[in-house]
Amino acid sequence: MFIDAHCDTASVLLDSKKVLKKNDLHLDLTRMPKGYTQIFAAFIDPKYHGTPMERAEAIINKLKAEIEKKTNKIELCLDNDMRLEALASGNSAAFISLEGGEPIKCVEDVGRLYDMGVRIVSLTWNGKNQLAGGVDSDGRVTELGRKVIEEFCKKGIIVDVSHLNEQSFWDVMRVTSWPVIATHSCSKSVFNHKRNLTDEQFSAIVSRGGVVGINFYPKFLNGRKKAYIKNIIKHIDHFLKLGGENHIGLGSDFDGVDCLPQDLCGVEGMHTLKEAFKEHGYSDELIEKICCGNFERILRLL
Ligand SMILES: [Zn+2]
Repeated sequence: MFIDAHCDTASVLLDSKKVLKKNDLHLDLTRMPKGYTQIFAAFIDPKYHGTPMERAEAIINKLKAEIEKKTNKIELCLDNDMRLEALASGNSAAFISLEGGEPIKCVEDVGRLYDMGVRIVSLTWNGKNQLAGGVDSDGRVTELGRKVIEEFCKKGIIVDVSHLNEQSFWDVMRVTSWPVIATHSCSKSVFNHKRNLTDEQFSAIVSRGGVVGINFYPKFLNGRKKAYIKNIIKHIDHFLKLGGENHIGLGSDFDGVDCLPQDLCGVEGMHTLKEAFKEHGYSDELIEKICCGNFERILRLL
């Protein structure tokens, strides 16, 4: 079984008018392995910051329309029980996340997004907004941001810290005692990129019981256009050294990146990734945790 904590396929489907069943993107249902859970992000591209809630709604409605097509064996899930039922019926499972908190102008907007099915939210993308600051900004978690995070805890929405700058990251850690996740981030000690996490950040996520989904983007893995599964494993090995066995997952960033590892070109490559883990010497138990079990623990909180 697999849980992939982040892909941008839903936004691309809306803009390209392609379909989820079969397409030439990084991910479609025809290539998706059995027993698969995908967290689909509604990414609020800065060009839609004038009408962010409308953009979120459009992406989510497109995704739901694709999921509801009769021959598409995938179900929209709002909690882990729904996921287990979907998988037991031989279907794949889908969750919705929001990447960029621009639609949240007041605490009540959290309820609106929750009712639309959103269960994971990253407060920002790379820039600063009314909630917090992303990696390209000096913003901090604002008063509204703090109230919104408290509302997330009440509702059962998980905070995704993947795009936050360091100050906002530590602000989030002060505001909430709930587990936080980084759906698609790697290790800064392995490759120094602004989107990767420091050892201190990773350890803080570990101490909260959170999970970090390793991003497959070569620019975050090794800073080049070309990378391989072995580069993904280097980031995992480093996090394992920091006590990460129960806190590492997968966050492919499929359809959100302009290149992928040479030996992992899309969702059909996930089995190859699993085999590479085995060849590298990871135990079956560890592989199960990385591919599924650790993020499943988070989905059980919903
Ligand atoms: Zn992202």
